[in-house]
Amino acid sequence: MFKLTFVASLFLCALAAQPNASRVSGPPKFDLTAMDKSVDPCVNFYQYACGTWIKNNPIPADQARWGRFSELQERNREILHEILEEASKPAANRDAVTQKIGDYYAACMDEKAIDAKGLAPLQAELDRIHNLKDKTQLAEEIARLHTLGVNALFQFNSGQDFKDSNDVIAQFDQGGLGLPDREYYLKEDPKSVELRQKYVAHVQKMFELSGEKPEQAKTDAAAVMQFETALAKGSLDLVSRRDPEKVYHKMGKPELAALSPAFKWTEYFAASGAPAFQSINISYPEFVKAINTAIEGTSLADWKTYLTWQLLHSSATFLPSVFVQENFNFFGKTLNGTEAMRARWKRCVDFTNQDLGEALGRKYVERTFGAEGKARTLKMVEALEKALGQDIEQLDWMTPATKAQALVKLKAITNKIGYPDKWRDYSSVVIKPDDPLGNSFRANTFEFHRELAKIGKPVDRLQWDMTPPTVNAYYDPQMNNINFPAGILQPPFFYNNVDDAVNFGGIGMVIGHELTHGFDDQGRQFDAHGNLKDWWTPKDAQEFEQRAACTADEYSGFSVEPGLFLNGKLTLGENTADNGGTRIALMALLNTIGNKTDKIDGYTPEQRFFLSLGQIWCENDRPEAVRRQVQTDPHSPPQFRVNGVVVNMPEFQKAFSCKPGQPMAPVHACHVW
Ligand SMILES: [Zn+2]
Repeated sequence: MFKLTFVASLFLCALAAQPNASRVSGPPKFDLTAMDKSVDPCVNFYQYACGTWIKNNPIPADQARWGRFSELQERNREILHEILEEASKPAANRDAVTQKIGDYYAACMDEKAIDAKGLAPLQAELDRIHNLKDKTQLAEEIARLHTLGVNALFQFNSGQDFKDSNDVIAQFDQGGLGLPDREYYLKEDPKSVELRQKYVAHVQKMFELSGEKPEQAKTDAAAVMQFETALAKGSLDLVSRRDPEKVYHKMGKPELAALSPAFKWTEYFAASGAPAFQSINISYPEFVKAINTAIEGTSLADWKTYLTWQLLHSSATFLPSVFVQENFNFFGKTLNGTEAMRARWKRCVDFTNQDLGEALGRKYVERTFGAEGKARTLKMVEALEKALGQDIEQLDWMTPATKAQALVKLKAITNKIGYPDKWRDYSSVVIKPDDPLGNSFRANTFEFHRELAKIGKPVDRLQWDMTPPTVNAYYDPQMNNINFPAGILQPPFFYNNVDDAVNFGGIGMVIGHELTHGFDDQGRQFDAHGNLKDWWTPKDAQEFEQRAACTADEYSGFSVEPGLFLNGKLTLGENTADNGGTRIALMALLNTIGNKTDKIDGYTPEQRFFLSLGQIWCENDRPEAVRRQVQTDPHSPPQFRVNGVVVNMPEFQKAFSCKPGQPMAPVHACHVW
């Protein structure tokens, strides 16, 4: 479920690789054969570190991208697969957690039964929409759809008050689009226009599959496009959404009602099951006005069409195979360039992880994650925190007053490693072995209500935003904590038996990346307690902005194909975290190994550090997937997560004896942290 937070991850889950089982045997190793030594590291370090890997690892047909960490994701998925196959076998002595994940998976796998039932499992919900009598009933129906996990019209949730992080309040955010972002509806370049035509064709096809005549389906698809375009126009753009002040408008219910008098808010909140509340954060009031216009200006028939589409769209993966295939044709093939659908078991593993993540994760942790892994990671976190402290103290552009505040914030960062201390209790979620769509709806309902129940309650600082098998990590500025799921604490990020240089270039950089998020253009606006509060002197803030602008301009100059440049402002936080994280990881390494300079495999500790860093990001991407990433993802594509960093590091240039003016040793470099 989407949540309006500034949680910053290592990469976007939805865009992470979806790897292929047949390629993996055993844990991947730090791999010098991945390099292309014919390339000068000072000309293109990414190619030098990854060239042979890139050549030898084409993208499998069912992937949009294929990277080195994909191997790790695949290994995790195989473990989950084993757990679920076992759990799905009927046995009298299954514990409650095993029953839930086992039956969920078994129901999802039974494609034959799903095909035989057709649209019957969705019929009651389709009828509800069909039977709406007038527009005053829309609020209640939208609440119903939100309960099922359908992205209809907007998002309603809970969250910490930006300016009082101990207070959990209600949260309203824009939503309701079928395409990934507002720009997809508004851009006029030929590729965007073509993509919109294909999207409308897809919506039409989905209506036809649900039983509409082609003529009617065509009219309906056009109505959906018109409706969503109006929502897109009323939505805030991604770069503005990175600015906390621009998405913070706390108000009472009367003020909300004044923005959109046509929407029955009281009925909506009652039907959503939210506890009573006084204050709500409206991320973007203009969007609420757009809702009002939509209610007044759209016929009830078109509203029904739009809601039916959103319901079909969000249920597609659990509907008969013709729907699954059509859904893939657009969202997998057209949008991301993927050639073939993933095997059903892979999808069902992922859905179980998505809907019952801490139940499945609990079993995963029992099998994979020991106390030793936690202790070693903790030790590295301490080394990285120490290095960031040194870095802050050494900055020549920051005054002692702001430095003192920065160190207070650094000291206050808490860390969570591996898995939750307290597991989520799914005992109230009914999971049946023969009702896959119902299982998903009930899991979504549980999650929706679990989030809303937080309103007015003390903040739960133990909860996680990622499941344990996830290959990712995040910093949460409102919690002021860093989080590393068990899934990432493995090769190629973390090895039990390699020299420190390799681990600091891997998981060390990841830890440094997350810590630096506390001090990037967004994170720096929150204080040690997670409040949106300025702790900078105006002069220091200005010095920061100047350095951040250097990074933003630098990355805006990188292009992925002729004419397609990165958005330096959208990716600023992530690029700052990559740069700062690498620098402090190297500092931490040098603190740890002291003067040791012995070569291993012919490389110095510094060279091995950079090679390890480079090789994490070895990856092949489909052009469609890269285009989508550049447009919507705050993370830069892989080659820039390597080359974009090393060009700013004299330490790199020294390690590889680069001469000033070479591509990886430009005269002008950027340096924030
Ligand atoms: Zn990040």
